[in-house]
Amino acid sequence: MEDSLDYIYKEQKELSVYGGIAALLGWDQMTYMPADGAAERAEQTALISRLSHEKFTSEKLWNHVQKLMNPNVLGTLQKKDKAVVVRLQKDIEKSRKVPSEFVERISKTTTLAYPAWQEAREKSDFSIFLPHLEKIVELEKEYCGFIDLPGPRYNSLLDDYEEGMTVDRLKGEFDFLKSSLIELLEKITSSEIYEKQHGFDKKVSVEKQREICNVVIEKMGLPRNRSRLDVSTHPFTTSMGYDDVRITTNFERENPLFSFFSTVHETGHALYELRMPRDEYKNTVISDSPSLGLHESQSRFWENMIARSKSFWNLFYPIFKNSSPEYFKDLDIETWYRYVNQVRPSLIRVEADELTYCLHVILRFELELELMNDKINVPELPGLWNEKMQEMLGVSPANDREGVLQDMHWSGGSFGYFPTYAIGTIYASQLFYQLTKDNPSIYDEIENGNFTNILSWLEEKIHKHGRLMAADEIIKKVCGEGLNSKVFIGYLKDKYYDLYDV
Ligand code: MG
Repeated sequence: MEDSLDYIYKEQKELSVYGGIAALLGWDQMTYMPADGAAERAEQTALISRLSHEKFTSEKLWNHVQKLMNPNVLGTLQKKDKAVVVRLQKDIEKSRKVPSEFVERISKTTTLAYPAWQEAREKSDFSIFLPHLEKIVELEKEYCGFIDLPGPRYNSLLDDYEEGMTVDRLKGEFDFLKSSLIELLEKITSSEIYEKQHGFDKKVSVEKQREICNVVIEKMGLPRNRSRLDVSTHPFTTSMGYDDVRITTNFERENPLFSFFSTVHETGHALYELRMPRDEYKNTVISDSPSLGLHESQSRFWENMIARSKSFWNLFYPIFKNSSPEYFKDLDIETWYRYVNQVRPSLIRVEADELTYCLHVILRFELELELMNDKINVPELPGLWNEKMQEMLGVSPANDREGVLQDMHWSGGSFGYFPTYAIGTIYASQLFYQLTKDNPSIYDEIENGNFTNILSWLEEKIHKHGRLMAADEIIKKVCGEGLNSKVFIGYLKDKYYDLYDV
């Protein structure tokens, strides 16, 4: 038994190291790698994926885990060892359903699909990406065949990102969310305030944007000796290890709000990554997030509930104003706060306002579901995308760059991933509601730039659990109930009825 325990911990440690190497290769590809490095990078990434998968699914590891899973042995294990063994058994059992040869094949396919997507997006030409995406969709279906969860094929994809979530449950939440959001949107867009609203041409130089982003990172408490901020097309967070978490943003837009909110968002992810259980759970399957939805709840919480609040802008508006006084001189804080929270149905998900954001996600979920149900085919995607944009948001992309080609996820084979953005957004609203109940002085603390209590609340309620429970269980423990989009709609109504006087 001792031997088996030693062995499973040694293997998990090595798998963590592989994970760090894979993360570094991926981070480099998105930030600094020259374009022509893609083919060799595909081989490097595929090799690490294969080695990692082979190790995780090896007979030897499986046999040791089975020995420990024997009820006579399991009952004698310490609480921590037991949790690790049970989790490991579940994870390996799932992974063993997928052949190594398939893992390598999908890794190669997606690594080549990424530059094709980039080129297609740049040229706004779906046909460049089409053959790659067709291959990926077929591979995803093949994958579902291996996992083979009950119900619609899509359940097998969802489960990878949000364990235990099903199409049935999600459709219930999303159908309610969709109709409520469309109704809210109609109210707002027919209001007088909406009619009169306009944007502001506020420019902030790249250097100043970077400075402001560094201020907010500092205030949120991200340790700089354990993190980096770099630039990529699409902002993201990744971990090379417990003391090395990387975030990215994009300063291309002259409007400083994109880099600002994306930095706040990714910092929320990074704070969670840096607070994964260490000590006894370090380098084990427990020391991770239970789901992407819960991970996203951490970024959305900071981005929306904190950084789009009035209290937050009382703190941050002066910092923006000082960065470019010439652009902000005639603008008062109330006008700026309203501008930051303007509802504007738009084409690009990552630039969407807080209210319309989830409609972008639901659109992708509906398309993915139909693809996996063999109801539609890849060549139909651009047209269907545009139809759904019109139906849900009342806007139509002028080209595929603004439409179906905008996100990189499909190029990476990440089907079933998009819903976690909305799940995280809903969780975030539930957490914020609970936080304001637990600590009514939270708005004062935000206004004073004191985020310590918020961070320790999140650590206590979410971060410290790692994967000891499923995401929905953690939320239930903190908020008294699992995923509930009604709380999010309630939060939106409170905020936007007031902003638009409806
Ligand atoms: Mg995120």
